[in-house]
Amino acid sequence: MNSDSTGLTRMDSRLSGFYKGSPAERRQALIDAGVDPETVESLRGGALGVDGADGVSENVVGTLEYPIGIATNFRIDGEDTLVPMAVEETSVVAAASFGARMARGTDGFTTDVSGPIMIAQIQATDVPAPHHAKSTVLDAADDLIERANEQDPVLVEHGGGCEDVQARVIDTPRGEMLITHLIVDVRDAMGGNAVNTMAEALAPKIEELTGGDVSLRILSNLADRRLARATCTVEPDALETDDVELSGEEIRDRIVNAWAFAAGDPYRAATHNKGIMNGIDAVATATFNDWRAIEAGAHAYAAQDGYGPLTTYEVDADGRLACSIELPIQVGTVGGATRLQPTAEAALELLDVDSADDLAGVFAAVGLAQNFAGLRALVSEGIQRGHMNLHAKNIAVQAGSPDDLVDEVAARMVAEETVRQDRAEELIDELSE
Ligand code: NAD
Repeated sequence: MNSDSTGLTRMDSRLSGFYKGSPAERRQALIDAGVDPETVESLRGGALGVDGADGVSENVVGTLEYPIGIATNFRIDGEDTLVPMAVEETSVVAAASFGARMARGTDGFTTDVSGPIMIAQIQATDVPAPHHAKSTVLDAADDLIERANEQDPVLVEHGGGCEDVQARVIDTPRGEMLITHLIVDVRDAMGGNAVNTMAEALAPKIEELTGGDVSLRILSNLADRRLARATCTVEPDALETDDVELSGEEIRDRIVNAWAFAAGDPYRAATHNKGIMNGIDAVATATFNDWRAIEAGAHAYAAQDGYGPLTTYEVDADGRLACSIELPIQVGTVGGATRLQPTAEAALELLDVDSADDLAGVFAAVGLAQNFAGLRALVSEGIQRGHMNLHAKNIAVQAGSPDDLVDEVAARMVAEETVRQDRAEELIDELSE
């Protein structure tokens, strides 16, 4: 454990050799590092159960298990952080941990969040004089804000609430429409329900003010007032690998070229951003946050000036790789389903964040680490090698391997560099004789 500036103890996220242990040994390593044993026990999963799940969604018949892994090495805003990630894809947790390790030598990630501000939209159609009505709505802003805040005294008590009203006349294939935006500080909530309730409550008043028909009343997932940013720098030496004959500087420059490729080509940008979302969605899943909202916001934000990458890579004055990310992150530490799932609650406890803003900063740092670890592999040895060990096991299972042969079939395929179902089937026959 380390002491931080507040004198509180924080665990060391380095956890050297963590990946080598069994799940039970890793849980013990977390306890040894200072994580509350009850949190560790909850991370083991299974506590929601079918009855618990029945209260989360509809028509429930069961639950689906995901692996939860812990990404190590993260240092975020000067504090070591262990990051829970729930994902079914191989190499994601390993890559995030490796990315965090490369950034660790230069003190990890610095984050910055613009504030937990969400936007609710109220659509008015068939407005007789939409530009005139826009002014009428804006004139009534104080009254609208008051009515909106009456819907959520708890949010207001926590220092949040509707702060502003905006109005836009937009051109659509069905003519002009007047769109009213409520600008709402949702504090530690994701805010979906909170802002939708406000928008629905204001609908009759907007109809009265505009003379139009109010139809949609819902948040925008293009949460461009809720931006999370993270930066880090990486020394060229930290990028080197024994697997290819490239210097750290050459790898650094190739990463910048990989970013430029994404900036110049939406086919590449889509995959570049998928790499970022590998990490972000995994933390969202682990904390039971709404990853569809985050995905929608991320890609809408990436498309604002023609679809492009959410990260940027440059070379700084000291020759280091300067990495940055900026995207909307709409997440909560309260509300939604976050407190309905004991494993997700434990994941939040492990992250030890004080607010939704802090959580958003972690998401941004993980997205950045995931992206440059992926790029570093892509520009050097390629990503297939890192995928192979677990992928080979998946192929062995897919080929029908009995449990006791999976490891051996996978190891033989990796050694032969032939990870294919037909080879797995041959090996299963051979080893079963
Ligand atoms: P919520 O309504 O469950 O909780 C938010 C409420 O908690 C606040 O309105 C407030 O009254 C209370 N609260 C207590 N302590 C608070 C604190 N410290 N900070 C802020 N609020 C506090 O949930 P929500 O966050 O409003 O909505 C999230 C849900 O909305 C998610 O499950 C999401 O899936 C869903 N949703 C999303 C969309 C979308 O993204 N398009 C649409 C509809 C619903």
